[in-house]
Amino acid sequence: MKPALFDYVRAMTTQDALDVLAQTGEDARVLAGGQSLMAVLNMRLAQPRVLVDISRTDELNAVRADSQAGHLVVSAAATQSSVEWRATLRDEVPLLAMAFPHISHFQIRNRGTVCGSVVHADPSAELPLVLTALGGDVLLRSKRKQRAVPANDFFQGMLMTAREPDELVEAVRFPMKKPGERFGFAECSARHGDFAMVACAAIVTDDAIRIAVGGVADRPKVERWPRLRGEDLRGALNDLSWKLGAHDDAHISAKYRRHLVRELGWRVIEEAK
Ligand SMILES: Cc1cc2nc3c(=O)[nH]c(=O)nc-3n(C[C@H](O)[C@H](O)[C@H](O)COP(=O)(O)OP(=O)(O)OC[C@H]3O[C@@H](n4cnc5c(N)ncnc54)[C@H](O)[C@@H]3O)c2cc1C
Repeated sequence: MKPALFDYVRAMTTQDALDVLAQTGEDARVLAGGQSLMAVLNMRLAQPRVLVDISRTDELNAVRADSQAGHLVVSAAATQSSVEWRATLRDEVPLLAMAFPHISHFQIRNRGTVCGSVVHADPSAELPLVLTALGGDVLLRSKRKQRAVPANDFFQGMLMTAREPDELVEAVRFPMKKPGERFGFAECSARHGDFAMVACAAIVTDDAIRIAVGGVADRPKVERWPRLRGEDLRGALNDLSWKLGAHDDAHISAKYRRHLVRELGWRVIEEAK
């Protein structure tokens, strides 16, 4: 199938994009890398009247470390590859560096943006999981206002977010590594590059564990525990696997999803020791 007819606007500035969103609201869609949106349009799951293309908006194509605030700030037009190949990424946000190779293939990451993946809000996607695990936030801007929404509140369900129709996600902020933090990331997918059936991310310090799980509930879920070990940790992971409300689908049973939460959860916490 082909998309329904739409008008195409190329935004040269952020203001251009905000103007279109303010005028058109629900009938407009932002086009970033197009790696999710084009499939949605081709299947006619969405039929926007206007597409506003931000992929060549220079002022939105930025990745910068705000060392004072302790954030890596990724603007809306920055591709996944441009962040993945940042020379300092492993020191700044190690969890992000661990997650990128799991996102599809490099061709997709060359076009797909970090912010586009966050806005698309697929419950199995790696970037929403990492953003939620780290306690990052999403910077939204419209002609009316600017606001920062914590990732945990931004993701509201499968492909659902707190974004309002006239808002552009201007950037996302990933908290940078703090002293004493160690990280683990693992996922299980049918083939390398496929969406995860279950993905887990862990941030471990000497006295605490934070674990985030994707692909099970309708959005990434985070749990915080003291520094559990051995059978206590196994028990907590088992409780978590039931709490997430795993479901059967065409690819995998709820029982196997719970198994993956327990095993990948254990693995990422071991990796982060
Ligand atoms: C074959 C294939 C395999 C893939 N595998 C994976 C995978 O394993 N893991 C994974 O996480 N992803 C995967 N993806 C998705 C990929 O990561 C996409 O690039 C990403 O989800 C969307 O980014 P995009 O820049 O292409 O956004 P687009 O497709 O352009 O947009 C996605 C949605 O976000 C909206 N949007 C985008 N940017 C903004 C903004 N700044 N403000 C407001 N709204 C915005 C759009 O209107 C649209 O609704 C895969 C894609 C393909 C085609």
